[in-house]
Amino acid sequence: MSKKYKIATLGSHSALQILKGAKDEGFETVLIGIKDRIEPYTSFKVADKVYEIEKHHDFFDIEDKLIEENCILIVHGSFVEFLGPENIEKIRMLHYGNSRILKWESDRNLERKWLLSAGLNLPCIFENPEDIDRPVIIKFHGAGGGKGYFLANSPREFYEKFERYEDENRDYVIQEYIVGVPVYAHYYYSRLNDELELMSFDKRYESNADSIGRIKAKDQLTVGIQTSYTITGNIPIVVRESLLPRFFEMGRNVVEESKKIEDGGLYGPFCLECIIDNHLEFFTFEISARIVAGTNPFVGGSPYTDLRYDEPMSTGRRVARDIKEAIAADRLDTVLS
Ligand code: AMP
Repeated sequence: MSKKYKIATLGSHSALQILKGAKDEGFETVLIGIKDRIEPYTSFKVADKVYEIEKHHDFFDIEDKLIEENCILIVHGSFVEFLGPENIEKIRMLHYGNSRILKWESDRNLERKWLLSAGLNLPCIFENPEDIDRPVIIKFHGAGGGKGYFLANSPREFYEKFERYEDENRDYVIQEYIVGVPVYAHYYYSRLNDELELMSFDKRYESNADSIGRIKAKDQLTVGIQTSYTITGNIPIVVRESLLPRFFEMGRNVVEESKKIEDGGLYGPFCLECIIDNHLEFFTFEISARIVAGTNPFVGGSPYTDLRYDEPMSTGRRVARDIKEAIAADRLDTVLS
């Protein structure tokens, strides 16, 4: 039955594991790839068919072909980044997940409302730079992958540094900087069985934040190095086991709250991006309401999916499994938009 449908996605972000997982579940796969960025997908042999496009928005030009071929589209972070949540709501072809929920992750105010009403602890926000009275991180809206963030400790430092970011989009948020460790929790919630799964955890490998400790503080000051958070990769984490109940509780609360704020709620893969401080207090600074690239180290499964499944289960494969089970149960409309 699953032979009838194909799984398609855009070549970037987490496409390798999405397509590999789909093949493992018996689907034919289709890659929509930007010219010059297709080699990984052909070299790793995860795409049965490739549609080449010039720029991301050209996706809409080939959408009819994808519909004819019975493709189910898997939306990932690059779709959200390059097309924008408003365009994702315009997708006509079958696609996995609730695309209406994506606007809640893309709009900082909506995101905050959602997470707070789910009972999560969030870093403080400073509406006015004059109010800065502790370490803060300044994030420019739409700054892809942590690029262009900066830190400040006072209104003066804020204004001094802000001047250097002339090229950045001027829409920004001033967030309390939490001193702790980043932990990104990857979840899966299936509407078919109403079960929440913890798939894996990662932290990001960020330039230059992750290498600055290799330079003496004195030299950092002499050279005037500024911390930046440009993401270059992801590192797997296994958390202290006693923290797991809290992670389950947070994930469950977010899912339950999503059902109240948006018709159909959140389902499929999602991620809570947290900092845990030295008192083991959790601060959630972001939610991604779709697959995150932090699941990429787990193409062959994670220590957590190993516990639950007797076969390698990536998040990409879990999506394909959900679709396969929905087809078998004649409930495809439960998992697709
Ligand atoms: P983001 O792009 O929001 O996922 O953040 C990029 C990186 O900045 C994270 O991986 C963290 O290392 C760091 N970061 C973001 N927000 C905070 C915060 N409120 N406190 C401390 N570190 C943060």
